[in-house]
Parts: sequence; structure tokens; C-alpha cells
Amino acid sequence: MRERRANDEFRLLDNRRRAKSHKAERQNNEFKTQENERRAEALKISRENDGFKTEDNKRRAEAHKIERQSDEFKTQDNKRRAEAHKIERQSDEFKTQDNKRRAEAHKIERQNDEFKEEERRRNALRMYNSRDKYKNNFDAMKSNYESDIKEGPTHICSCCGGLWFAYSIREYTVEMLAKKGLKKEFIDTVCYLKHEIIELCATCRKDIMSNKIPNLALSNGLAFYEIPDCLKILIESEERLISPRIPFMVIRTLGFSKQFGLKGNLVNVPMNVDTNVSILPRSFSDTYTIQLKLMRQMKNKNAFMYETIRPKVVHTAVKYLVQQELYKDEGIVISNDWIKEYPNEKENFIVKNDDKKFNETENTGEDSDHDDNWNESDDKPINPVVTETLLNDEIEDQNDIGIKFAPGENNRPISILMDLKVDELTFPKIYCGKQRKIKENVKLTYAKIAKSELRMFDRRCGRVSKLFFTYKKLQTRKFVDAISINLRKTKNTKNVTVTQMLNRDYVNGLVHNDNAFAFLRFDRSSPAFWELKKKELMAMNRQLECATIFLTLSAAETQWSELLVILTKVLENKVITLEEAQNLSYEKRCELIRQDSVTCVRYFEHKLKCLWEILSAPCGPFQGYELVDKYVRTEFQVRGSPHVHALLWLKNAPKYDKNNPESIEKCVEFIDKLISVSSQPTEFSEVLISLQRHKHSHTCKQHVNGCIICRFGIPYFPMSKTMILEPFSDDEKLSKKERDEISKSRQNVKEELDRISKDKDTSLTFEEFLKKINMNEEQYIKMIRAGLKKAQVFLKRAPNETRINAYNPMIMSLHRANMDIQYILDPYACLKYCVEYINKSENGMSKLLREALNELKKGNHTVKERLRVIANKFLNSSEISAQEAVYHILSIPLSVSSRSTVFINTNRPENRISMLKSDEILQKLEPDSKDVFVEGLIDMYINRPDEMKDVCLADFASLYNVSKRKVDNAPIAENSDDEDVTENENNEKITAFKMKNGKGWIKKKTKKKIIRYRYFKLHQDPENYYREQLMLFLPWSNEEEDLLSINHEETFELHKDLIQEKRSEYVHREANEFEKAFEEHMEREDENDIEDTNIEYDQDKNEFLIYEIGNNEGDIFVEMGLKTQTEKVENFNVPKVIPDTEYQQMMRSLNNNQRRYTLNVMKLIKNGDKQFFHFINGGAGVGKSTLIKAIYQSILRFYNSLPGCNPETIRTALCAPTGKAAALIDGMTLH
Ligand SMILES: [Zn+2]
Ligand SMILES: [Zn+2]
Repeated sequence: MRERRANDEFRLLDNRRRAKSHKAERQNNEFKTQENERRAEALKISRENDGFKTEDNKRRAEAHKIERQSDEFKTQDNKRRAEAHKIERQSDEFKTQDNKRRAEAHKIERQNDEFKEEERRRNALRMYNSRDKYKNNFDAMKSNYESDIKEGPTHICSCCGGLWFAYSIREYTVEMLAKKGLKKEFIDTVCYLKHEIIELCATCRKDIMSNKIPNLALSNGLAFYEIPDCLKILIESEERLISPRIPFMVIRTLGFSKQFGLKGNLVNVPMNVDTNVSILPRSFSDTYTIQLKLMRQMKNKNAFMYETIRPKVVHTAVKYLVQQELYKDEGIVISNDWIKEYPNEKENFIVKNDDKKFNETENTGEDSDHDDNWNESDDKPINPVVTETLLNDEIEDQNDIGIKFAPGENNRPISILMDLKVDELTFPKIYCGKQRKIKENVKLTYAKIAKSELRMFDRRCGRVSKLFFTYKKLQTRKFVDAISINLRKTKNTKNVTVTQMLNRDYVNGLVHNDNAFAFLRFDRSSPAFWELKKKELMAMNRQLECATIFLTLSAAETQWSELLVILTKVLENKVITLEEAQNLSYEKRCELIRQDSVTCVRYFEHKLKCLWEILSAPCGPFQGYELVDKYVRTEFQVRGSPHVHALLWLKNAPKYDKNNPESIEKCVEFIDKLISVSSQPTEFSEVLISLQRHKHSHTCKQHVNGCIICRFGIPYFPMSKTMILEPFSDDEKLSKKERDEISKSRQNVKEELDRISKDKDTSLTFEEFLKKINMNEEQYIKMIRAGLKKAQVFLKRAPNETRINAYNPMIMSLHRANMDIQYILDPYACLKYCVEYINKSENGMSKLLREALNELKKGNHTVKERLRVIANKFLNSSEISAQEAVYHILSIPLSVSSRSTVFINTNRPENRISMLKSDEILQKLEPDSKDVFVEGLIDMYINRPDEMKDVCLADFASLYNVSKRKVDNAPIAENSDDEDVTENENNEKITAFKMKNGKGWIKKKTKKKIIRYRYFKLHQDPENYYREQLMLFLPWSNEEEDLLSINHEETFELHKDLIQEKRSEYVHREANEFEKAFEEHMEREDENDIEDTNIEYDQDKNEFLIYEIGNNEGDIFVEMGLKTQTEKVENFNVPKVIPDTEYQQMMRSLNNNQRRYTLNVMKLIKNGDKQFFHFINGGAGVGKSTLIKAIYQSILRFYNSLPGCNPETIRTALCAPTGKAAALIDGMTLH
């Protein structure tokens, strides 16, 4: 018990559970049912009111038109406030009632805060006492879970207008806030939405209670304007005709449920850049819209879809917009010819007649492989996620309809980052032709505004085109920043001063980092990011044991009625019951999901969070085996929804040892307890099993040796009991005759299985099956073993279950979507899951980038140019679904580990790459200070206090945190859904040690971090191997003395036992086998070019490593990916004369030969006019660079000493054939 309580995670869960059951107690079930009834009643009434309301809206819009003349901020603000309030209140008058009732209840219940405190204390105590009972009661947890997953982000924060989950929200009345000492006027400002019950989200609450206006408060100018009806009714293509900017991008639909995906880059094109006057509406051809329909495998051949637009509607909208300030500023004039050109009610929006023809010919396209009966899925699968748990590569979309906007040749794109009002000019329907006016003094980044927009109760920014636009804009910003950061990573050059580093040319010359691939890792959709995650996961498996369980969980949005209820509430402000949700048509469900990817994503994350809680509980599905660690990756399926792959580490789980029968028995028992393929409904419904039944589709079809087979190897073999089968060992090798026989019978079995698998109701028993294939069990097992390469688990499986994917009944009944669960037999299996599922980096993209890199290697490019090429390649070829874009914009992690990872750069000092401090910080330092690099882990280790003298580097990295302050407050993630507050009672008691250089405080952690390091191999590089072992596992204090100028092997032998003991804490005994598996895999995969083991990366956001991005010049050629010319102008680095003292020191440091040669060259220069060529040769480290420097410095001095010289004249040029060599001598590249 004590051990458990010490565990942070457990305590966190327990807190949550306590809070929840507290809530559950308050919300008595009967009351809820009654309330539902009341709501349904209210809904009926409000629906009847709908007709009236439309009328009313029109009248109001009319009134608004007149009102909207003055554009002063304050009046607007007031108006917006009233409007926002009104929108929110529309169609739920019953809510007012509800509020009143709740306010009443509050008044009585919570006369004062003391009472509330008291209540909380009492509840906590009660929970504490019943905790054991509760913990051991799965049913109680389950019913809690069921009520939790009904929750969605439906509560509106009165201050920021964001939609939040109930657990993020606290309710107040004005009186309660006033009692906390807040001024009336302040309350009035921050509580922008005037509700009787004030609801505040965690972030807003924190600021408001300390009398600060939250950054994202609506009153700071973030509230939307009400959309006038003339704009509200516009469809996407009509909006394009009247927007001063066109965002060119390719949006397509994905999979069955037709969610959206974005392919490639976004290009922002203004209208008529060359003239001052812009005329709207645009002519159709000015939109440059190409309607495309890829007819591949289209079933419905007449589904040609082009949109119609309504000229009168468009014209009215422009009439409204040109009166708005933003449009006036743009000099937009209304075109009256336009309405004459399109006089009809409706016009087909066909840009070019060619497009029409193109589509028609495409329509008649051949439908190639549809008649082989392979595809068993229909258009409305119960579960559109049939094979999602398995690998899906190279999939062609079945119904690939796309609309493509491509700019005309004469259009000059402009930077999306520099075009300040680009959002407003691109989306008049969202911003109503008005500029967003954020109050002065409010510091808001675009990223924060974007988050606020997506969470807003007004869902207008959830539109797919706006979503992708925002995503691309944020991504572009990140790329520009990342490129400038990358230009600051250099080899740790000693003896450079602040003055030198502030000289941009000098810095550019030093830039070493030519790893253009790794630079992409800041983008979470890049292969480089996942490469890094893979390394971390490998390190995790090396340090802990191999994981126990591999688990995959899908999203099944169309199946989750709770989600449909939430979506209806959020999008249509209607309350429907679960039953009504279940009766929605498939199309309606898909439409709801498509309309609000944001809510879908937040719900999925919430649902998973609730599930993880049960999975970690002692009475959960893993009862008896505590879930101690996990690694979770979120991935996106072909149809655009997320699913997660997870590796789980269970305490005390049995380990498989093929030579130990007892271990085998235990493993089988463990597997049977957790994993099932049963078709017998138990605690869960039959519908759920059907989710697990595989249906072949175009995604699993694979041609092998002229046969079509399922790439997932389905149907599976029926088995009488669960078994772990090994391939034949060397002693039991089969004769050729035996092998031939087996292969013949195998074909026979496969065909029979295929037949059986098509009948899911077959009553065939296992024995009957054996009879059918004419084998006894022994022969059957032999046949299966003959096909194995590695040990494999075969689950107990009846003949009618050959298509059922493995599941866990408990998890299934909770999650209610397609899932997969596997027991991890050995390090080889573990590696397979890591590489193939958890971290399959986007293969196609990896390949593209690698090709680009190889191409770059041939040429002679600056670092900047290289980064640009790679960035463009990536930006222009990446593909992302709407839901994935939401993960990015809301910064929801896609890779989560129960342990953080720290990289220890164990390279020799001269080979480590360091990060240069930002200009901003450099400018504050003394000009000749040499403190120019960002401090790394090793600097911190060296500066550890004397009390920690005996701590080795591995322990230091793994067990300690460094922070700038002695006591730090637990950081609250800003406006995120994840707002659990951890109890910090222990933290204050932990002693903080002051670092020797006074730069920070060191504190011990409770859970070890995973360490990652260079990992030199003994057989490849013994010298570095021994040095690394000493560096990591034996305490040291002076690197030069203790680690460099010693005999490494001897020292290692001397401390061998100590090192090995320490090492065993970080390298698990299975690690070698794991490593072997990894190397084998690497050989197969040939993953070259991704060597980035030298770059320090700190997940913990250690304050010392945070690099602040200064205002870098907006180099937009990269973000646009359009300008194809390469940079022709090269910086001509003129060597500068070094100070006399430095020169003398340098000359003194030359050896005899160097000095003699330098003098000789000088003589030649002084005496003759003849041109001469010298070739200086020698191995690495003989001092060529120093010599060259001595020579050119001497030359500079000589010329400058001549009478009448201009010191600015270029006297010398330093050139080198490669960028790297040039950087060494501070020169430039010679072409
Ligand atoms: Zn808020
Ligand atoms: Zn299949």
C-alpha cells in the first residue's frame, strides 16, 4: 500500500477517481433521467419555434445592417458581446431555466466558501475510507466510466468562450466572485458572456483569481462578429468569388466516411497585386479552381459533381462586404458587369470547359479489378475501421474525389506570414469583412489565437478549409523558425567570443549541422520526428525490460452515440437522447463528424484518458499485473480518424523461455486470461464481436505468386487450445520429402480454411475441421510449425472464429471499437511491434526525403539551401487528415510515454554539436565573453555540487532535474484539456542542491528517466566504447583529466565491477538480444543516412536548454516552395585582421616547419609579382588550418602596412571545395 501511494501516477489516478465519485454522488441518477425528459420536452418546443426564429433572424440582420455604421472599437465590442451572448442563447431558453434553478441550488448549498471547503474535506475523507472497496470493484469503475464518456466539451467558459469538459470547469455566481475580493468592474470585463451561472475554465480561473485578465479572454478582442445572413448562406466556392485572397490547396475526401484530408502545401494568392483597385466578385476563371475527380475504382459512375453557385447571393454578399473597413482598405470595388454576365438564379461553377470534358472522359474510365469478389466491405460498414489495427501501406483511395485550387501562372503568391490580415481576407464568411482587433498590451501568438478559435463555442472555425489553412500557417511559421534555429547549431568551437558570434557571416561559416533530414523533427508529422521517437522507444526497451503487451485501439465515431449526442449539442445546439443518436442515419452521422473534427478529436482523447484510468487500476483488465509503464502512439488511418498503438509494461508478467516448460505453461495461462477470439457473447454484446471480424477489402488485398491473399494472414488457423509454437530447430530438420508433403497439404488447408471462414455461423468443431482437412492434430501442428521463422502465439480458436482479431473482453466492452491485443513473446517480437506499428515512419515520405538528400549531396549547397530543399520537399508532399491537423493545432501529443527520455552526448568534446545562444542573449553579455553556447547536460554535470560528487553521469541524467528556481510551481498547461493538478506534497521536502556555477538548482526525481546515448560498440570502436562506459557509469569531474588523457581500457578494467553493476540498472539483461534483433532489422531495412545521434534533444524542456527564437528575418522562400531559382549570391567572407596579441600568440604556437613555410610564402609575396600555387598536404590534425590562418593573417598585415592602402579592400579570399572544409578555415565554398 505504501509503495503504491508513493507512486505518483497512482496518486493522480486516485485523485481523479475521488473527484469523480464525488461528482457522481451529487448527480443522483434519478434526477438525471428526469432532467433528460425535461430537456427532450424543451427541445420539442424549441424545434417548433424554429420557423419563427428564422423570421426573427432575418429581421434582426436587417436591423444590424443599419446599426453597423460606426466602427469604433468600443461600440463594436459591446455589440459583439451582446451578439455572442445572443447566439449562444438561441434556441435554448430552457437553459435559462436550468441556470436559474442551479443558481438557486448554489445559493443555498454554498452560502460561503468555508462550507464548500468543509464539504470537500468530508467527501475526501469518505472516499479515502471507501477507496479499497471502490478500487476492487470493476463494476463501480465501469459505471463511472460509462457516465464519464457521456461528457464532451460542451461547457462554455464565460471568459474565453471556449468549450470545455465538465472537469475543467468550476461554477460561480457574481456574488461568489465578489466575495473573493474581485471588483465588480473586473468581473464584468472578464465574464464576457453574461450567464447567471458563471462557468470558468482552469486557465481563466487561475488568472482571474489573481486579478489578471486572461490572455484569451473574449474581452481582449477575440469574440467573433455575428455573421450577417447575407454571408451565412454562402457556400465555399461562393466565398472564393468574393474573398480578396485565395488559399490554394488540395483538399480531398478520405475513405468511406468522407472525412477530409489535405495534400501538399498551401499557397496564398492575393488578387490583382499589380493594381490598386480590386474588383469583386471574381470571374469564375479568376478563381483558378480546377475540379478534379479521380475516377479510380469509382462505383457510381454518374456521380459527377460540380457545384452550382447563386450569382444574386454572391452579389448581395459583396455589396455588404465593400462597406466594411477591411474591404475599403483593400480598395475593393463592386463589379456590376458581373451580375449581368451571370443573370441566372443558379450557374454551374465550371471554370473551364476543358474541365468538364476531362471529367466526362474520366467518367467512362475502365473499372479494373472489381469483379474478383475480394472486396467484402460495403459502403456503410458497421465499423469503417475494419483492418485498422494492421499495416496499411500504399493504399489507393477508393472514392477519391478532390477539389484542387491551383494558382494561375501569372499570380504571384505572397507570404502567408507577412500578409497580416490574411485570415480575414481569405475567410469573409468567418470574419465578416472586419479585422480582428486584439487589444493592445495583450500578447497573443497566432498559435494561441488558433487554439482559441478552434475551441470557441461558436464553431465557425471548425470548417475544413479554415482548419487546414490555420494548420499550414502554423506549420510554415515553425519551419521558418526551425531553419533559423538550425543555422545556430555548430561544433563546439572553443575560444569564440560574443562579438564574433554576433557577426552573422561568421556564424554562417561555422554552421556545421548538415543533417537536413533531422532538422524536420520539430514537425510531428515528419519521418524525422518518428525516427527520434523510435530511438527513444528503443532506449526504453533497453533500459526497462521488453514490453509485455501490444495494444491497438481504434476510434469508431459513427458507433459512439455519446459522441453523436455531443456533436449535435455543440453544432446544432440541440439536446438529443442516446436513443435518438442511435437512430441517426449513417450519412447524418458522417456529416456531424466531418463538420467538427475538433470535437471528435477532443472526445477521443477524453475517452482514452478514461480508459487508461481503468487499465491502470488494480481491479481493471490487468488485475494482478500492475500497469507500470506505457508508450502510446497516435496514428491516423486512411479514413482520417486516429487510432493508438501502445506498448504496455506489466509488473510480474510471465516471461517466455522456450526451454522451461513451466514458463510456457504460465505464459499460456496469462494469454488465455487476457486475450480472446471467442465469438460467444459474454458481458458484451454481439455487435462488438462483429467489430473484430475481419472483412477483406482493397486495403488487405495482396498478390503473392499469382494468388491473391490477405496481407494480414487471415483466416487464422483454428486451434484446440492456446499454444506457443517454435519453428523447427536444427535437430529436427525436415527431409525434403516431408517438406514437399507439408507444402502440398498447406495449400489444401488454406483453401479449406478460406471456404470455412466465409461462413461465420459454421457449427464445425475443431475435430470435424481436422477430419475435413484429412489430418490429425500432430500433423496439423507440424504443418503450422513448418511455416514459422520465429516463435509465435496461436490462440485457442474455433473454426467459426478464423476471422476474429484478438481482443480483451473487458477493454472491448469499455472502448466499444475495433481493437487488437498481443502478448509479446520475446525481444524479436517486441522489436517488430516497435518498428512496424509504433514507429513506422511514413515510408513514402522517408524515401522521398532521402532521395532529395542524396541529390543534395552531389551538389555544392549552403546549409540554408539544403534546409530549403528538404523543407519544400516535405511541405509539398505531406498529407494530413482534418483530425490530424486538429492534433497539431491544439498541440495534443501524438507520442506519449510514461517515462521521459534524456540524451547524453557521449561523443568526444570536439565532436559535440552545441547550440549557440540567441542574439538577444548574446547582446547582453560582455563582448569578449566566451560563454556563447547554450549549456548542455554535461556542463551541468561538471557543475554539480560537492554533495553529489559520487553521482555518475547516467544517474545524474536519469534521476535529477535542473531548474532555475529553488522551488518551482507545477506548471499548468495553458488552456489544454489536460488539467489535472498533481499533488506536490513531497516536492517541497526534497532538498535542492545549488549548482557550483550558481546557475540553477538540482533536485532528485522519483521515477527514472530513460537515458539515450551514442552507444559505441565494443567490436567497432573499442576506444570510444570504454570511454563511454567510464563517462556514463563512473563518477568524474574533469573531462580532460578523468576521461580523455587516460588509457581507457585499463581504467575500465580497474573499475569493471562497479561499472557493470551500475550499468545493469540501465541496460536490461534482455537488452543484448533486443539489440541483436535491432541490428538484424537494420540490415534488412537499410536505414542509412539518418545518423543524428549527436544532437541533444531534451524532452523535459529543461530551462537551460530552452532556446528563444528572436525575430529572424522572414525568409519566405522556403515556406512557399515556389521560387525555383537557387540563391546565386554568395556571401563573400572577407577574412578580418585579428588583434595583434592574438596574432603574436598564433605565430608563437606554430611549429618550426609551419613557421618556416609561412615566412617563405611571405617572402614570395613581398618580392615577386609572379603567380604561384602551393599544395599543402597532410593527415587530419597536423595543423593545416592553423597554417593557412597564419598565412592569410600575415598577408593581411603586410598589405595593410603598405602606405596609402584602404583596409576595406579585399586582399585575400579563402575558398574550399566543400562547405565543411570552408567552415574550418572560415572561408567560403569554391564552385
Ligand atoms: Zn476560459
Ligand atoms: Zn483481409
